Amino acid sequence: MEMNTFDCKLPNDKGYFGEYGGSFIPPQLQEIMDEITTSYKEIRQNPEFIQELGELYKHYVGRPSPIFYAKNLSKKYGADIYLKREDLNHTGAHKINHCLGEALLAKKMGKKKLIAETGAGQHGVALATAAALVGLECDIYMGEVDIKKEYPNVIRMKILGAKVIPVSHGRKTLKEAVDGAFEGYMGDPITQFYAIGSVVGPHPFPMMVRDFQSIVGNEAKVQFKEMRGELPQNIIACVGGGSNALGIFTAFLEDESVALHGVEPAGKGIEVDGEHAATMTKGTVGVMHGFKSYMLADEAGEPQEVYSVASGLDYPSVGPQHSYLKDTNRVNYAIANDTETIEAFFELSRLEGIIPAIESAHAIAYAMKFAQGEGKGSTILINLSGRGDKDIDFVAENYGAQYGIE
Ligand SMILES: *Cc1c(COP(=O)(O)O)cnc(C)c1O
Repeated sequence: MEMNTFDCKLPNDKGYFGEYGGSFIPPQLQEIMDEITTSYKEIRQNPEFIQELGELYKHYVGRPSPIFYAKNLSKKYGADIYLKREDLNHTGAHKINHCLGEALLAKKMGKKKLIAETGAGQHGVALATAAALVGLECDIYMGEVDIKKEYPNVIRMKILGAKVIPVSHGRKTLKEAVDGAFEGYMGDPITQFYAIGSVVGPHPFPMMVRDFQSIVGNEAKVQFKEMRGELPQNIIACVGGGSNALGIFTAFLEDESVALHGVEPAGKGIEVDGEHAATMTKGTVGVMHGFKSYMLADEAGEPQEVYSVASGLDYPSVGPQHSYLKDTNRVNYAIANDTETIEAFFELSRLEGIIPAIESAHAIAYAMKFAQGEGKGSTILINLSGRGDKDIDFVAENYGAQYGIE
């Protein structure tokens, strides 16, 4: 793989990673984003904040998450496969890492309420958890269709003390929830803090969420060296907005011996628009949701409908740093489709006794392909971004007969 020169100290002061990122928002909101940037830059140097967040990571989230050598999977597929166990975190995924960071920052800035949209409810639950802990109100905007579909997460958010605000226009799913949350935010951007759920949105969010997630790779680097005496040859992570991937990649960006692989959801196939969410594989460059990046857009420049069997991956854009890492060839972006992903979901469950989130199963699926081909005999570290408890009903209903669950 040819590696162009790239700068891993990015973004610049305006929030750009090469040509990607920035901030495309109304002037009134820009002032507030600038305040958030200033506060964040202060706080990330502040030893008190660093210690407070570090203690929460340790005693509340359960960090460091272990690395597990998946011996049975390794033997069957022909490479040494390791899992970074973000599925063992409190609330069951990596999202708590940045939700705690954002909640603490909002609290220090004197904000009263965290708001966000949620699709399947995973970001909503992680944020409601952080809000409860830190002592902030929390409004989660959610499409009415998703509220029905993801009812257990709706109940979780309510038990945690958050308000779930139904959004009833359009198709009543994630896209409308984003509109609803944005409108709610514009109503009072002074006392509310819009906690973005991945490395997307206007500056400083792609930088800030990445920084909060980078604990994953920092830990993994030390742990892997302890286990193997060297760095992994390959690291694989799934990419929705891209936060868990940047979480594990960041510590290794300057290590040229480590190949990085991001896996996008190919859904039912990348040939047909609307049946996948492979943004960097199929997208074009444009502006959406306040930032410039690769995106899946229709002819009018509006977000295309996207689809993945993993509801946490069906986003029509991607974090701007990923677009930059794609263009500079530092990361190899690959795909896994629904069928391969469900196969990987069962392989990991039955070979290792670990039920992965369907999102994370995309990374497993690609690792299985890679281990049998180009990556044969190599060391592979996979970011297991979350656990699959949330997915078991869906899998049983849709794939039960095929996999002997009756
Ligand atoms: C939300 C989610 C993702 C996708 O988000 P990224 O920002 O791309 O990491 C991946 N895995 C799990 C378990 C999730 O909950």
